[in-house]
Amino acid sequence: MSVTISPKEIVRRAKETGAKGIAYTYNEPAIFVEFTHDTAILAKKEGLKNIYVSNGFESDETFKYIRDYIDAINIDLKSFSKDYYIKVCKAKIEPVLNNIKKFFQIGVETEVTTLIVPGLNDSKKELKSIAEFLVSVSSDIPWHVSAFYPTYKMTDIFPTPHSTLVNAYNIGKKAGLKYIYIGNIRDTVRSSTFCPKCGQCLIKRDGYDVKIDMDLGKGKCSKCAEKIYGVWK
Ligand SMILES: [Zn+2]
Repeated sequence: MSVTISPKEIVRRAKETGAKGIAYTYNEPAIFVEFTHDTAILAKKEGLKNIYVSNGFESDETFKYIRDYIDAINIDLKSFSKDYYIKVCKAKIEPVLNNIKKFFQIGVETEVTTLIVPGLNDSKKELKSIAEFLVSVSSDIPWHVSAFYPTYKMTDIFPTPHSTLVNAYNIGKKAGLKYIYIGNIRDTVRSSTFCPKCGQCLIKRDGYDVKIDMDLGKGKCSKCAEKIYGVWK
């Protein structure tokens, strides 16, 4: 079944349901970039935020075309190995690393997700390299370490054990990242946001249940007033 919908209609529906923004996701948004561009411009005019969920493969032309309309982006960094990108993703790693830097540096809220696949990209060395790369751009970048489940073309690998994700979480913390989140698996502590300065739990997450204890208007810790990275208004 196919659905025909215009950018104007998407923005109208988002407003009607009381959404605060529109996320362009599941299909890679850069492959329908003109549509996201037109939608994002209209959404911005209506006070909505625009969020890209991307593989980080935007060309420089695409980057320039959308950068003024995107408030936040989540980029998948699948691995820190050139071979993994070539063999498993059939792609190159360099554009992904460059786009993480570029989007962060122009002030688009940039977050990174790594899907951790047992035996392929879960070594201590590789996770450390990813975390250290992110710190080299900024320790503010939130890093999501997500659980893999066997599906589609990769059914011969077991789901990611919780302990592997905790290991990645600890490696990220040690490398100096301030915000790390375990995803795709239940972990209420390691999916919550803590103040990097005083340790106060600011956003408690349990699945889709969210409890907020921070000054959202200012984006600051409710206890020590530390500025928390993110788009808060
Ligand atoms: Zn604090």
